[in-house]
Amino acid sequence: MAFIAKEFLANGLRIIKITHGRISTNSYIIYGEDKSAIIIDPGEDDASLLDFVGKEGLNVKLIALTHGHFDHACSAGHASDLYSAPIAMSSKDEFLLDLNRKAMESLGIRGIDCSFRPDIDLSYVEEISAGNGFSLGVLKTPGHTPGSVTFFINRKIAFTGDTLFSGSIGRTDFPGGSYDEIVKSLELLLRTLEDDTLVLPGHGEETTMGRERAWLEKMLTERGIRKNG
Ligand SMILES: [Zn+2]
Ligand SMILES: [Zn+2]
Repeated sequence: MAFIAKEFLANGLRIIKITHGRISTNSYIIYGEDKSAIIIDPGEDDASLLDFVGKEGLNVKLIALTHGHFDHACSAGHASDLYSAPIAMSSKDEFLLDLNRKAMESLGIRGIDCSFRPDIDLSYVEEISAGNGFSLGVLKTPGHTPGSVTFFINRKIAFTGDTLFSGSIGRTDFPGGSYDEIVKSLELLLRTLEDDTLVLPGHGEETTMGRERAWLEKMLTERGIRKNG
């Protein structure tokens, strides 16, 4: 299976980015010295992640989903069964799990079961943890989907899913998407994250909040979301 892996070291943690799947989704595996790991967005097929987890001898404690689209979420049930790890996702995206089957069919992707349900509802929590390791902050950033979230570590690393990419923002024309909501969410990211925060998005290259700030602020000002000055 073809995939690209890249490594980041931040906050005493190793973050492995694996880009894979039909629409080149970025999955992330985060772990510290004790090898407790969180998987963010395992993708529609988790084969390349499981390979890495096995080779490194990681102990997967949690599977965290930025949102419910198939290319990020569908292998969560499989990985959860394998590692006895809970799945964290907003219940507001549960309706997408059924729609995912159709989306995959239309792309000719077969044999993937997306019938899991989340164990931890992210619409009610501010933080999730990987046992004695580390924890992820949870910012609700709806718009791309109703239950989209951004995970962050000490405001220095942010996993923005399909809300914010390097140089662009997520689509809002899928079921449950809202342009009005995503611009509010981007405003929240601008207010909450620091300029040196490493932004690790659901597709494409990594960036920093500082690199995205100018065009985002301009866009929000033009939309009347932000006032100049
Ligand atoms: Zn998406
Ligand atoms: Zn996506």
